[in-house]
Amino acid sequence: MAEPNYQVTAAAKDPGDVYPKVPGIDYNDFKLSSERMPQEQRNRALEQLYRYESVQKENFMGYQSNQKLDFKDDLSTYLNYHINNIGDPFVSGNDTLNTKFVERAVLDYFAALWNAQWPHEYTPDSPDKTWRDSYWGYIVSMGCTEGNIYGLWNARDYLAGKFILEDPDVWEKARLASLNGRRAAVEPRLIYYQAKAPEDAPNKYTPIAFYSQDTHYSIIKAMRVLDIVTFNEEGSGKFDCPLIYPDDYPPGYSVHYLDKNGWPLEVPSDQDGCIYIPALKKLAEAFLKRGYPIIVNFNYGTTFKGAYDNVAGAISEIVPILKQYGFYEREVEYDPAHKKSDIRTGFWFHVDGALGAAYMPFLEMAEKSKDFPVFDFRIKELQSIAMSGHKWIGAPWPCGIYMTKVKYQLLPPDNPMYIGSPDSTFAGSRNGLSPLVLWDYLSKHSYQDLINKVMYTKNLAEYALKRLKELEKHLGKDLWVEYSPRSLALRFKQPNASITFKYSLSEEILYVNNEKRAYCHIYMMESVTPKLIDDLITDLEAPDAFLDQPDEEIAYRKEIVAPDAKRGIFIPQNGRGFK
Ligand SMILES: *Cc1c(COP(=O)(O)O)cnc(C)c1O
Repeated sequence: MAEPNYQVTAAAKDPGDVYPKVPGIDYNDFKLSSERMPQEQRNRALEQLYRYESVQKENFMGYQSNQKLDFKDDLSTYLNYHINNIGDPFVSGNDTLNTKFVERAVLDYFAALWNAQWPHEYTPDSPDKTWRDSYWGYIVSMGCTEGNIYGLWNARDYLAGKFILEDPDVWEKARLASLNGRRAAVEPRLIYYQAKAPEDAPNKYTPIAFYSQDTHYSIIKAMRVLDIVTFNEEGSGKFDCPLIYPDDYPPGYSVHYLDKNGWPLEVPSDQDGCIYIPALKKLAEAFLKRGYPIIVNFNYGTTFKGAYDNVAGAISEIVPILKQYGFYEREVEYDPAHKKSDIRTGFWFHVDGALGAAYMPFLEMAEKSKDFPVFDFRIKELQSIAMSGHKWIGAPWPCGIYMTKVKYQLLPPDNPMYIGSPDSTFAGSRNGLSPLVLWDYLSKHSYQDLINKVMYTKNLAEYALKRLKELEKHLGKDLWVEYSPRSLALRFKQPNASITFKYSLSEEILYVNNEKRAYCHIYMMESVTPKLIDDLITDLEAPDAFLDQPDEEIAYRKEIVAPDAKRGIFIPQNGRGFK
């Protein structure tokens, strides 16, 4: 019998030589081909897989994802179901193999926890308008990255004066057709419109973004995907920076983060990693007084330092400036000829709560402290929150939540004809198992259980801090041990590669007082134990645990590559904890 002749390419090189080596993994056992893999090889591969993942899970401490999962008993059945929540979570749709009823229960839970009005309602034909204050949201298929992109997308379109309107052409066509005595079917049609900036206010629909230098790269990605302009891109080189160095900057701020015009690339944060409110205020004011609306992203649990921006404090300081320049509320004219307009805010406040939005409400319940950094919908001006499901809670795959209020969504006109299935989510197909995972977890825990879990991780952070401080003393070395208030992350000098691999430690370069330093951090999630911390300390006591960090000069390429090209967004290579 002739060999089958498939039209495929052969490998140009042996991929086993080209790809990174993974300890305990023989890549040859994983290579796929046109033939079924022999059972023996499959067993070898599966065994290596299991051993590798189990060992890495056992010692995992460097990233903020809880490894203590308990879903197998309730949910393993559904690995053999394709459950798809395509479309809006509050519209059933025709793809009935979905878990939208579970999704709604999970969203309601978080709406209550984040002090939003619930349940979600969309009843444009009802005489009372309270439904406009209810929440809207969905469970994202990516992690918090999707929630951030979605929030900033909504922010951009809202502030840019975009509208959805009925297309009048359709009615006109039908009218003309009917003049001949014919019946014409009229399919209503919706069109996106963009309001036009008046001549005396050319920046009215150009939102400018503000976010701190501790912000996760998903926000930078969102800027690029959505083509949103940052304050640095718009202001630097155009007018003087409203911040004077060093008076307007937090202590310890490194000039490394300034550009050649003396502008910060991102909003400065303090040593703890919190957005520096006096600088944010001055920067925001410089753009508001030039007529630009503003988008501010706050971090609630920064990626590397685990710091919480003082969201309520910052917003309460910005609100008077918004009022002063007419941006607290403003008229957005979408049809000047017919005097049709809308009252909208001239700001959008988004909270990236990837980590903190999941557990800080429980820490607040435990602490009952007056100076707790509030981040949720108790802040009247807050427009959106995003959270990861796989970080503090823990899930077998990335998932998360996006939440806003109905009144901030770009919705079709108040016309009951359009309560169809709106294309309101980012993804098309949406993971229907993620709601199950979150529901399974939430239904098995009381608030008190969750308070106990938060206290466990908080105490663990205190224990790790104590052990690291003892280690410093014992070794007689400054290991740069640092900890931001209420954070679950502890950062210290980066140890050698075998230790960082063993514990999956996230590494970062930070500039402190103009000095370049390589740090790593550990994250105190529920799956971490005191014994694991003890093991790490033992490893860190070894004589070769910490290598010298020579103060090497970086070889910059000094020649200007594109002198005429417009400078774009700053893309951070480090400081964000994603390596
Ligand atoms: C992890 C993280 C994100 C992105 O979340 P994913 O779930 O990984 O998409 C966004 N912001 C912060 C602060 C994070 O720590």
